[in-house]
Amino acid sequence: MGLVIELAAVQANWKALAERAPGARAGAVVKADAYGLGAERVAPALYEAGARDFFVALAAEGRAIRPHLPDDAQIFVLSGHMEGEDLTGLVPLLNSPEQFFRDRALRPRGPFGIQLDSGMNRLGLEPGEWAAIRSEALAAGPRLISSHLACADEPDHPANAAQLAAFRAMTEGVSAPRSLAATGGILLGPDFHFDIVRPGVGMYGGLPFAEARPVVTLSLPLIQTREVRPGESVGYGYNWTAQRTSRVATVAAGYADGLARALARHGELKLWSGDRACPVIGRISMDLITVDVTDLPDVPKELEILNARQGVDMLADLSGTIGYEILTSLGPRFTRTYR
Ligand SMILES: *Cc1c(COP(=O)(O)O)cnc(C)c1O
Repeated sequence: MGLVIELAAVQANWKALAERAPGARAGAVVKADAYGLGAERVAPALYEAGARDFFVALAAEGRAIRPHLPDDAQIFVLSGHMEGEDLTGLVPLLNSPEQFFRDRALRPRGPFGIQLDSGMNRLGLEPGEWAAIRSEALAAGPRLISSHLACADEPDHPANAAQLAAFRAMTEGVSAPRSLAATGGILLGPDFHFDIVRPGVGMYGGLPFAEARPVVTLSLPLIQTREVRPGESVGYGYNWTAQRTSRVATVAAGYADGLARALARHGELKLWSGDRACPVIGRISMDLITVDVTDLPDVPKELEILNARQGVDMLADLSGTIGYEILTSLGPRFTRTYR
């Protein structure tokens, strides 16, 4: 029942991605509560698999996992040194001259890294800003110099080569460890790997790592079933009307749990009982989804919305988004069980 997370699959996906980048150390991105799956359980499992370099978006996320990881694990904070943050036990990736000078003034001996902008224009020092602080920063011994690819999930996109060239130019002759590739960058090949790779979504079973093992199963409990006669309708807007005598099940989950209304917009969403698919009918409401279970031999206690047959990227296609957003939207009302 609820969200079942297979930690062995996360570990296997991490190892498979690490093997794609044999010349680099594989880190692990566990921001946004490990993409919604629970960083306090996922990060130690990745440590056990061999990861030593962890990445979170915010210092608070780093503080939450710090007690769950041994001292030799480094936790990098992608947003860097924000004003007033407690960075004890963490390594901020400094993104601007302002962050650099704030960090050096407040924690002159504290470990830090540098994030460079190689073209995405989202986070990181611009080439000119980097040139201005480069010798001072390198003298202080950064733990990492990183940048991020904007188009790595499109292997033929010209930005990949352009960002690679920009990153190389900015880090020429630097002895600190360098990092450019997330999941997509790992799959672009060895030119992109440098010293540390930063897989995220691929570990959690999502594209662009097409060979990933599925990680999550999400089953939704049935609350009740009823018979609906031809001509009767179901749900808000009377959006679905029975053509035949139908058995309709109502399950306990809805858009408040991250299962967006848009998932049902084309009437193609299915819930699963074993290998049998049951069409979702009517609109998804805040806490409830209605399903046509007429063709099942027996009414089950629960139906699956995420499993090996219907993964996060299939749901993403149905609602017009990406697997990352499906995972990170799965709400706190689902109990998380780890296997
Ligand atoms: C989110 C993120 C990653 C991980 O990306 P995936 O596509 O999930 O592998 C790596 N680096 C940075 C800077 C990120 O923001």
